[in-house]
Amino acid sequence: MVRVRFAPSPTGRLHLGNARTAVLNALFAAHHGGAFVLRIDDTDDARCRPEYVQDIQQDLRWLGLSWDEEFAQSANVETHRMLFQTLKDSGRVYPCFETPEQLAIWREQQLSAHLPPRYDRVKGKSVPEHDHPYWRFALSEKEIQWNDLIQGPMVCDTRHLSDPVVMRQDGTMSYLLSSVMDDVDRRITHIIRGADHLTNTAIQTEMMQALGANIPFWAHFPLMLDQNGDKYSKRSGAKSLQELKEEGWLPSAIVQAVAQLGLSHQISGDFAHMASHFSLSEYSKSNGKFSMQDIAIIQSRLWANMAYEDLSPDVQASIDPGLWPVVRNNIVLAGDIARWQQICTDPHWVAPDGMDGSSLPQDFCTTAINALNTRAISKQSGEPLREWVWQPDPWHHWVNAIMLVHPNLKKGLVARTLRMMLTARTGGPKMEDLLPLLPPKIVQCRLERMHDALLSPS
Ligand code: GLU
Repeated sequence: MVRVRFAPSPTGRLHLGNARTAVLNALFAAHHGGAFVLRIDDTDDARCRPEYVQDIQQDLRWLGLSWDEEFAQSANVETHRMLFQTLKDSGRVYPCFETPEQLAIWREQQLSAHLPPRYDRVKGKSVPEHDHPYWRFALSEKEIQWNDLIQGPMVCDTRHLSDPVVMRQDGTMSYLLSSVMDDVDRRITHIIRGADHLTNTAIQTEMMQALGANIPFWAHFPLMLDQNGDKYSKRSGAKSLQELKEEGWLPSAIVQAVAQLGLSHQISGDFAHMASHFSLSEYSKSNGKFSMQDIAIIQSRLWANMAYEDLSPDVQASIDPGLWPVVRNNIVLAGDIARWQQICTDPHWVAPDGMDGSSLPQDFCTTAINALNTRAISKQSGEPLREWVWQPDPWHHWVNAIMLVHPNLKKGLVARTLRMMLTARTGGPKMEDLLPLLPPKIVQCRLERMHDALLSPS
């Protein structure tokens, strides 16, 4: 049975890079009907905090991911100790006694002799023994080959690598070995992770061999780069999932965007649909550029395909059912929905100033107001209202009525100007769809305010 794991360190909230690892593992497990294990890597970093474990769980649940098993590495130290003893017994780990200063001197000597800085086992043995060794894993100094499910055939000669440190002087184990021990202990069959771990793979393969374990399949997906070609990071503007949630990004859009990265065909549908079509072999092995625009495109497509009934109760509460079909093609963030509702219904909403009216006749706004063809109606409650007389298409009638007074104005300019004055946006739903939903009173108010603003430029 397929068993995969997602192994975040609890050093902060999850970010998009973590989300990608989690999503690809979860999709792979779901495709194969396998198990998805959440492993909390809490032993190898002083920045680990127990409270982040809950945050990680919350972030994953928000993405819509669930897992079959969960454990923290710190709960498995007994197993680590036992397996470490096996490696000691077989001589695959050895104690080292030199100080960090000595190590630094050796390194300098190698570099000045134009040699690669590599730990010298023989030299290491010359240092007198004492009670507080740290431990290294003895690499076999052979070629390690594997067929990476994304990168293809890989080979790494461990002769070029230093024997890695596996246990520090204080007895804590490094990620390299503890990760292997947990993967062996949990019978992980596929390790799917970022290409930044490629260099660990030969070492970890050797460790697994030394423990007499089956070697899992490896799959290393390429790095996420920003638009400058640098690793996508905080500096590129990367945000935590928590921040993205607060900004109004949809988990389904994030899941689809991170699953899409590296594929040449467009994927769609919910998690189950993506899982049924999932194949690691379709992912490119070259690094891919990523920006929030990738999520924005997917997210606006998701909104556009949602009927009012598909919206969450929160979102439903922020928009009139009649308005939704008109604006849903113009939504990226959830906040855009409330904004369109405000534009269409709030008499006090003020379009931001700063419109350039220099190409307009001075009486443009009054002409537009005079051309409003509305009639008074009253609700049974008695409150007088006004509605458009022109039906079903007040927009074209209105623009034409303005053009009768100003035949020299270009129709496009009139349309753009009215859109801007009413919505403060250059784009949005078709005005012929939007205007019938705008109460004429609101239209009049906005034009009056705009008239005053244009007459008294600051
Ligand atoms: N905790 C490690 C990381 O987040 C796990 C790496 C691995 O998947 O082996 O980088």
